Amino acid sequence: MEAASNILFADIILPLPLNGTFTYHFLKEDEKSISIGKRVIVQFGKRKLYTGIVQTIHTNKPEYDTKPIETVLDESPIIHEIQLKLWDWLADYYSATVGEVMKAALPSGLKLESQSNITANLNWEASAKLSDIEETLLSFLKTENSATISKLNSVSKRRNIYPVVKSLISKGAISIEEKLSKKVKSKTKPYLSIHPKYKDGQLLEVLFSELKRANKQLELLMYLIDETNFLKQDEVSSLPKKKIIKSTKFTDANIKALVDKDVLILEQREVDRLDYQSNNLQEKKELNHFQQIAFNEIHKKFLEKNTVLLHGVTASGKTEIYIKLIDEQLKAGKQVLYLLPEIALTTQIISRLKKVFGEQAMVYHSRFSDAERIEIWNKVLHFNKDDSDNKCQLIVGARSSLFLPFSNLGLIIVDEEHETSYKQFDPAPRYNARDAAIVLGHLHAANTLLGTATPSFESYFNAKNGKYGMVELKTRHHEIELPEITFASLTDAYKRKSMLANFTPILYEAVENALQNNEQVILFQNRRGFSPFIQCKNCGWIPKCKHCDVSLTYHKFANNLQCHYCGYSQQMPNHCDECNSTDVQTKGFGTEKIEDDLKLFFPDAKVERLDMDAAKRKHGFEGIIERFSEGETQILVGTQMITKGLDFENVSVVGILNADNLLNFPDFRSYERAYQLIAQVSGRAGRKHKQGKVIIQTTQPEHIVLSFVKNNDYETLFNSLIGERKLFKYPPYFRLINITLKHKNRDRAILASKQLASELRKTFGNRVLGPEFPLISRIQQYYHLTIRLKFEKNIAPTEAKSYLLNAIQKVKSMEQNTSIIVQIDVDPI
Ligand code: ADP
Ligand code: ZN
Ligand code: ZN
Repeated sequence: MEAASNILFADIILPLPLNGTFTYHFLKEDEKSISIGKRVIVQFGKRKLYTGIVQTIHTNKPEYDTKPIETVLDESPIIHEIQLKLWDWLADYYSATVGEVMKAALPSGLKLESQSNITANLNWEASAKLSDIEETLLSFLKTENSATISKLNSVSKRRNIYPVVKSLISKGAISIEEKLSKKVKSKTKPYLSIHPKYKDGQLLEVLFSELKRANKQLELLMYLIDETNFLKQDEVSSLPKKKIIKSTKFTDANIKALVDKDVLILEQREVDRLDYQSNNLQEKKELNHFQQIAFNEIHKKFLEKNTVLLHGVTASGKTEIYIKLIDEQLKAGKQVLYLLPEIALTTQIISRLKKVFGEQAMVYHSRFSDAERIEIWNKVLHFNKDDSDNKCQLIVGARSSLFLPFSNLGLIIVDEEHETSYKQFDPAPRYNARDAAIVLGHLHAANTLLGTATPSFESYFNAKNGKYGMVELKTRHHEIELPEITFASLTDAYKRKSMLANFTPILYEAVENALQNNEQVILFQNRRGFSPFIQCKNCGWIPKCKHCDVSLTYHKFANNLQCHYCGYSQQMPNHCDECNSTDVQTKGFGTEKIEDDLKLFFPDAKVERLDMDAAKRKHGFEGIIERFSEGETQILVGTQMITKGLDFENVSVVGILNADNLLNFPDFRSYERAYQLIAQVSGRAGRKHKQGKVIIQTTQPEHIVLSFVKNNDYETLFNSLIGERKLFKYPPYFRLINITLKHKNRDRAILASKQLASELRKTFGNRVLGPEFPLISRIQQYYHLTIRLKFEKNIAPTEAKSYLLNAIQKVKSMEQNTSIIVQIDVDPI
């Protein structure tokens, strides 16, 4: 039906788990202010207001009566149409709704919802006068601590407070509280600068004469004047306190004296936000012979393929190649996206990139404040290759930086492409950022480079079949040999009774030797906590989680038992619940136990632990990595956190305490994963100066995967396993979709999943497997069952999607099934 000629329609994406978009109307005279990619406020349901994004504008009146668009929040669009295309692809491919994609894509500061909780930023100061309503709202928030937008709406007696909230967020005065991700405090460092009043030469003269009798303080002042160019620059710059103490003879007391006199200003600065001034950028390193060849090859392959896999051994200098490629793009006026699997652990790479590219490199961080994230969002949005202030853009970030509003991407780098943390597990969309990056690359006609020492089978398969280009780099920088790998048989050592706690004599001696030579050691154990379970020696009782089907892990530091699935914890019991015996023993070992043992064995060495528990405490992972990097720590014990792309110079020994649990994991990818993990951990040894040593403790020294690791033979590993993948219909030959059903009642969960499986079989036949209980069948009181679909590669998930959703809808609409939760995971990891 044609509408009245003065009415137009807009399809709006709303942040809801409902399929499709929703149509609203507006007057033709507002056409100028409403355009694709802008945020608007609309009413959905009886009373609720939502922020949505305009997806299309048209003249087709829908069957139902439309509501009007209430407000337009933006003067210009906050995303380009190219982002909306990516959203559509993600929603289609991963069977999510575009509203769910929108939720994942927008930083919370841009995503105002009526239930969003707003807080005032207490140490914010206005640099320009606020409007009356802004003042009122801000002081209300300061007294209340926090309030939801709907609360603010009602107290302000305005129908629509969103525009005011939006303006205060972008000024940094208020923030949106995020419930899901607990914010880790960002790391700060003390910095010193000279008080700007001493720019006045006379005051400085007076100060000099006052300090005449305090020789050390005068010297310190002179040093700072010199180092910070105090007299020559307009702005005052500062130096890290640590650097002053480390590289000079000045002491804490000297510094404190001048701070007390107000001559120096001591302030805590966030390390990530430091600006690297363009005058102390580092020269880019010359590529070595092998890197140069690889670099040329990459260029050649990019002429034919959009995507290239760089398969380069650990410490071959892949990062140096990335740097050259990035440099070319920036010089050509293009944007570059550098994806990292987990931003948390990659401060090292960020600082390497910052040193070379300075302010052109921007980090997009979930830990930044709303205002900071919006600032980066806007910089990317307003990228302009003709504007000298905003023309060079390298964005470094984890998977969510895919969603930034790029307009002119030239290159995407996916570092450590094999990492499973590229996959978002919860909530939907359950996307793999590596694969989405390739799609994003296509949308921009940009190139995508996947880099790793241990490719995922999927990417390697695509490279071998010519879908991607492949470039190999087989030599480490300086032609240092890959580490020498030794297997230490646990069976032997137990038989001989020669184990020292959890150390075989071989590993023990290797650690001892390294310490004697002033070298460092990394020890890997893929379990955190002290012991994975405890058991009554008398009756065999093992305490389990109340809410999940798993045993509780003993944490010595916290002196409690913890569930690693739901976070439940309880006091460490001093007797058995079943038989009252006091003989309750710890079983197995985690990183905490290894740390304890090391402190006993090597009392003179400084040991630190890097796992999720340790990362939460103190200064977290950054401090731990920095202290190890600077040699303050000699031994680092950790979970897979220590494997991710870290570059230390002085590590000569890497030990893997037990490779068995990696090899025996019941999953079709377990050998691939075991290889990746062991090769990556081993790759931390002997990176810069001389060949390193790796000791792998295992009861299966003859295991075939271990022999591939020893010979650094990824290709044979791949060739010998790929046949099975084909035979048993697994990726990369087939595509998997997991459907998980959850319910608190076990019988209902089973019944509904049987119903769904048989419904799906009607269309998909024997491509449907299950339902089955997964390894852990109950988590947080919900029983889980999984149905697995195996599709031939020529069936696109988008095609299967509507059948899938219909079947789910049908089963969910049965009376007893309404509270069943169904999740779809395409390409599960
Ligand atoms: P990868 O990313 O392949 O694991 P890196 O890029 O971290 O390897 O390189 C390993 C180490 O060798 C780093 O400390 C790096 O600075 C150094 N390095 C690599 N290539 C060069 C080069 N061409 N010139 C100088 N140093 C290099
Ligand atoms: Zn007992
Ligand atoms: Zn639990």
